[in-house]
Amino acid sequence: SSQDQAVVAIDLESHGFKKVASGKVREIFEVDEHTLLFVATDRISAYDVILENGIPAKGALLTQLSAHWFALIHEQLPSLQTHLVSTSLPRDTRIPDEIRALLDRRTMQVRRYPILPLESIVRGYITGSAWSEYKAKGTVHGMPMPTGLQESQKLEKPLWTPSTKAEAGEHDENISPERAAEIVGEEVARKVEEVSLKVYELAHDYAQARGILIADTKFEFGLDPATNEIVLVDEVLTPDSSRFWPADQYEVGRSQVSYDKQYLRDWLTSSGNKGKQGVAMPPEVAQETAEKYREAYSKLTGQQWS
Ligand code: ATP
Ligand code: MG
Repeated sequence: SSQDQAVVAIDLESHGFKKVASGKVREIFEVDEHTLLFVATDRISAYDVILENGIPAKGALLTQLSAHWFALIHEQLPSLQTHLVSTSLPRDTRIPDEIRALLDRRTMQVRRYPILPLESIVRGYITGSAWSEYKAKGTVHGMPMPTGLQESQKLEKPLWTPSTKAEAGEHDENISPERAAEIVGEEVARKVEEVSLKVYELAHDYAQARGILIADTKFEFGLDPATNEIVLVDEVLTPDSSRFWPADQYEVGRSQVSYDKQYLRDWLTSSGNKGKQGVAMPPEVAQETAEKYREAYSKLTGQQWS
């Protein structure tokens, strides 16, 4: 059925919507001056390349998982503004029924903000690029760290480790908190750090109680021009924006199996397709990957994905 088909492109431009941006996963359209349609497709990327085919329902799952986190954040940190307006579609007569069916559950209406040019990363465990830097220099994003840390070790306290937001095709660059303050200003940087650590800590404890370790995650923030307050935007705390580890397989001193993309990455490597453009996953790779996303969703929300 059409439900089993991955949606890798969404055309609203021919229905009169202006496209604001197209990322690796999302398509963003303008509803009105203040509001965007934030649409997650079923596209998936690995090793910085977007696969030809997608993972059926992945976009809807990411959107619903983000919505779940936004609800928890609104409840536990009521003073933090977020961009979420609604998880339903606007009553915009320009959207034909067949497109409505494609957008359903994968779309959020969000308030549009100028975006701070920072990726606000929080790390609770030392892995990935932070582990590489630590091994080479004993620092993480330029910050001196205690000696003797092991790969994947839980940090004494979560660290705010910002990076630049690279243009399409470029790589983000890890930067120090001091450099971040030069980019967005001292006061804004301090707020972004404080809020990011709070959201990470509440999410980490929530997820750990449900069998998932959030090793690290990336937030983005906008700035409300009316109040000069920071606003949490983008997707939040999904497997695409975070490293999720199965808690029962966690072991210090080695790299961990990534929750979602491990099967795909292993297949890309063993089939000689790693880093190549225009590669399509075989059905079993797409199915295994879809299953991991569903598992993360059901552990975190307590509900089966359907
Ligand atoms: P990737 O996440 O794959 O690295 P990406 O982040 O560039 O790529 P997507 O996740 O597909 O792309 O699209 C999200 C884009 O939308 C980001 O560039 C983000 O900064 C922007 N964005 C998120 N929320 C808002 C908002 N409320 N207003 C304006 N732009 C937003
Ligand atoms: Mg993104």
